Amino acid sequence: MPASTTLSGTEHTGADRAEKVWTGAGALTADMPGLGHRIGVLAVQGAFAAHRNVLRRLGADVVEVRTPAQLSEVEAIVLPGGESTTISMMLRFNELLQPLRSAIVKGGLPTLGTCAGMIVLASEILDGRDDQECLGAIDISVRRNAFGRQVDSFEYDLPVNGMGDRPFPAVFIRAPVVTSVGPDVEVLASIGDEPVLCRQGRVLVAAFHPELSGDDRLHRHLIDLLR
Ligand code: GLN
Repeated sequence: MPASTTLSGTEHTGADRAEKVWTGAGALTADMPGLGHRIGVLAVQGAFAAHRNVLRRLGADVVEVRTPAQLSEVEAIVLPGGESTTISMMLRFNELLQPLRSAIVKGGLPTLGTCAGMIVLASEILDGRDDQECLGAIDISVRRNAFGRQVDSFEYDLPVNGMGDRPFPAVFIRAPVVTSVGPDVEVLASIGDEPVLCRQGRVLVAAFHPELSGDDRLHRHLIDLLR
């Protein structure tokens, strides 16, 4: 048995251990496009923790946004899935509705909205509650809970324009449908005739939950919108 080998595996010298650490750190840094960026995750309700974790893995300094002061610190923001009626209500309650609208619509804050977040960003909610306000940040109309009338939730291998050959593993949970898109909206992915991933300027919206699939390409795209 060679001197450096034990029954439980290969022993490493200090030198090659140091090299491993160095190589690892180099690789990690190169693959952390969020480093040096402060990115917000709206955290008034819903699935914000999973988005926070993806963005942290990409190196971003993540701020959970619950107040106008926290909003003013961030360079980009994610509006998560959850319950859009509750998110809209909490935005009003926390006095965030107008500041968020103005940061995105007037200030061009790069934004990713997923599922309920997409509904909140839309310009029209066809079946929203009377008191449910949307931000008008992307020129789409949406209908809540309308995707897949038979099943409420499903996973779909979604081909996405401009994101390579590998389809996106898209998780749909009581997802909204986009019923119409304005002329300035790019549809990046659809299922049949239904758009499920759209972009207008720096606002990217998905009817599904990209934070649940272990595929971080949409979060990387948000970080790309910072440049
Ligand atoms: N059905 C929810 C709504 O209308 C959205 C569901 C979700 O975000 N997964 O707000």
